[in-house]
Amino acid sequence: MTYQVLARKWRPNTFDEVVGQDYVVKALKGALDLEKLPHAFIFSGTRGTGKTTLARILAKAINCTSSKKNSEPCGKCDSCLSIKNGSTIDFQEVDAASRRGVEETKELLDSVPYLPTSSQYKIYLLDEVHMLSKESFNSLLKTLEEPPEHVIFLFATTEIDKVPPTVLSRCVQFNLSAMKAEIISDQLKLIFDNEKIKYDEGSLTKLSNLARGSMRDALTLSEKVISFSEGKITEKKVEELMGLPSTELIQSLLKSVIERDSNMLVQNIQEVKSNFYDPEQILIDLLSLMQEIALSQFNDKIDQSDFFIQPQHLQLIYDLGISNLEYFKLSPKPESLLTMTMLKMIAFLPESSKKKPLNSNKNKIDFNWPEDFSNLDLTKLTAQLLSHASMIELQDSEIHFGINQERLNVITESQTNEVEEALSALLKRKMKVTFKISDLTDNPFEFERIKSQQESKQAEDDLKEDSSLSEMLEKFDGKIKKVSKI
Ligand SMILES: [Zn+2]
Repeated sequence: MTYQVLARKWRPNTFDEVVGQDYVVKALKGALDLEKLPHAFIFSGTRGTGKTTLARILAKAINCTSSKKNSEPCGKCDSCLSIKNGSTIDFQEVDAASRRGVEETKELLDSVPYLPTSSQYKIYLLDEVHMLSKESFNSLLKTLEEPPEHVIFLFATTEIDKVPPTVLSRCVQFNLSAMKAEIISDQLKLIFDNEKIKYDEGSLTKLSNLARGSMRDALTLSEKVISFSEGKITEKKVEELMGLPSTELIQSLLKSVIERDSNMLVQNIQEVKSNFYDPEQILIDLLSLMQEIALSQFNDKIDQSDFFIQPQHLQLIYDLGISNLEYFKLSPKPESLLTMTMLKMIAFLPESSKKKPLNSNKNKIDFNWPEDFSNLDLTKLTAQLLSHASMIELQDSEIHFGINQERLNVITESQTNEVEEALSALLKRKMKVTFKISDLTDNPFEFERIKSQQESKQAEDDLKEDSSLSEMLEKFDGKIKKVSKI
């Protein structure tokens, strides 16, 4: 199987195939509907966002000879095909980075006055237009000031700031946004599924984050991983190949901050050093993890059970991290900066930060009172006492019980400890127990009493329904007095 062609194979050929640039596509379709087309378009944005791809689609759409549906190029007419094959002189694509001199620009512009040979418009696509020399821009400007009716310029640039304002003011501008990781991930999923490439969800996330807004980079990286993966792309394989820290390491780093555990932190930093991971990237990954947790605090669906931190404290350490990010440019020792950033987070994190998260439903302990009383391993005397306790409040690591004054007076410290131990064992976490005076009656004792009452009633009803017994009762004029469990 050849994977090298993924980026080319999946390059969009129509506006509808372009992903992540909905506003630009909509505006372009709108422009195509205009009676008079603008003479110059400029596409700006970071690498791999689809500037030249969109410009090519636009060129095809402008000159397409078939009746256009939804402003899309047909891809089949002579004009569309000739642009695709590069076999028409009515469409010229020039890399301004390699042809930036004034002579070359003049040569190109020399052909401007001549009418197109077989199309409606002569279209010039200048990629990386900001690379043109000052003189080249001047001569281009002259043409743009009075463009012939049959000429359209399409410019693409990663550095719009370097394009002279005089040129910009004569263009319709489209700024392409860096693609969101989720959009890249969805597109990768679509492509992998179509190409019958096996993958795990983690690898999609890793690849789409690594691509940093560029679909092209996402595909180039994917190809690299595919060629080294046997059968399936996995998160682990992506980490290995790209020299990335494992998700576990990033999680452990964040935990060391939240738990204020400097030993764990030192250990983790050592791992960063010995594997030569990029400290700046580590901080970026940490910030992404914090962002995920922050979102999950308002959303039940994401598992966040390992990170108990108050939302406001999470915001605080996120702010500290993001503000230190810019110092990496200046720091001669990035590992030290990472260490200092994390120590700063620990220093500023209040002791009380490790509380239950905002969305407590997600982390609700699976414990029901009084039903779970029977699952507690207690001595007879303690069990008897506790059977009269009702639960007032249940927190992450604390349970408050209510009990009447009389019983409260007789509870000993060792009994409280016994209850704590039994609860900790059942819930598999360290639990603290407190008792308060309360006259609530939803305790195990009452629970059992009502349960057994209900069972007797049910048994009584069942017996009454038993026809032979009814007959017998009638015969002897008898009554059921009491039904008890045997
Ligand atoms: Zn066509």
